[in-house]
Amino acid sequence: MFDRIYVTRSSMPPLEEYVEEIASLWETRWLTNMGVKHRALEEALKEKLSVSNIALFCNGHNALECILEALQLKGEVITTPFTFASTVHAVVRKGLTPVFADVRFADLTLDPRKVEEMISPRTCAILPVHVYGNPCDVEAIQEIADRYGLKVIYDAAHAFGVKLDGRSLATFGDASMFSFHATKVFNTIEGGAVCFKDASLYKKLNDWKNFGITSSETVEYVGGNAKMNELCASMGLCNLRHFDSEVAKRKSVSDRYKANLSNVPGLRIIWPSKDVDYNYAYMPVVFSPNEFGATRDDVLKALSDKGVVARKYFYPLVSDFACYRTVYSSHQTPVAVEAAANVLTLPLYSDLSISEVDMICDVVKARGGC
Ligand SMILES: *Cc1c(COP(=O)(O)O)cnc(C)c1O
Repeated sequence: MFDRIYVTRSSMPPLEEYVEEIASLWETRWLTNMGVKHRALEEALKEKLSVSNIALFCNGHNALECILEALQLKGEVITTPFTFASTVHAVVRKGLTPVFADVRFADLTLDPRKVEEMISPRTCAILPVHVYGNPCDVEAIQEIADRYGLKVIYDAAHAFGVKLDGRSLATFGDASMFSFHATKVFNTIEGGAVCFKDASLYKKLNDWKNFGITSSETVEYVGGNAKMNELCASMGLCNLRHFDSEVAKRKSVSDRYKANLSNVPGLRIIWPSKDVDYNYAYMPVVFSPNEFGATRDDVLKALSDKGVVARKYFYPLVSDFACYRTVYSSHQTPVAVEAAANVLTLPLYSDLSISEVDMICDVVKARGGC
């Protein structure tokens, strides 16, 4: 018998390594406000993501809100409904208006052609999401942004460490937000960051996350409190040392899923294209119920009966949330509607065993009748 299998398990360093990392904090008693660990993590992440500018935050959501404010955006932001609540909430909470464009069938990222159709005189920015860590069509999106004079801010919450043709995804657009939440491939327990092109934003972003305090007696912005603390930064320093080996383990797990599920009629794996150095963040599959012989919800139930927790990630679409559905209609994004109705993310973490993967795949296939 198997224990319950959850959709993910947080990566953690050996306890002794973390204890060693945080020991100095018991000497300095400096626990937050851009201390030694915060600065060390900033430097390490600049190198890991091949960027010149990064600001760390208490979570990815605040990083996203903060960069939207720092870029002084006004008006409409074109984004995807096939995402986590945070993406769209950040837009609305900053006084901007989200406009939903549809996604591409192949990888469920924002469709550049649909983005262009949604541009209006009020459009100020595009906020695409590298869904599951699969890169958006960054070139086509940048080309549109340049033509219409728009900013591009990526929600790269899933895409830590991903490269496209050898180039770090963090280097595209005007900015990219990363989440270091416990469930993400790289975690600082809670945490996040934004990488950005314009170096002059660094001070502003860091002041904003500390109440807009710019010097001991000057407060220039109506900022919030969104600082990453030293214990979280220390967790990040430790997890970063193990990141490459964690990804390698995730790759073997993912490859086993792919081998088991590749030729199942009516089941499509959302898999990155060949030019991507992937982080194996998620294991999304999309069902065509008629061809497969069962619905996504049937499979979810069959797995749950065996103690396996899969997730409908992302369902419902953000435009169908109670807080948005009176304003938006998901009919305008039919590809996203179809994906949300049929997608399931299967359990994936570095120490998921091959026999557990085989068991999960057997349950999925059996429910479909193969
Ligand atoms: C996790 C996530 C966020 C928010 O990140 P937090 O660190 O939890 O605030 C934003 N967008 C997407 C797509 C996410 O998956």
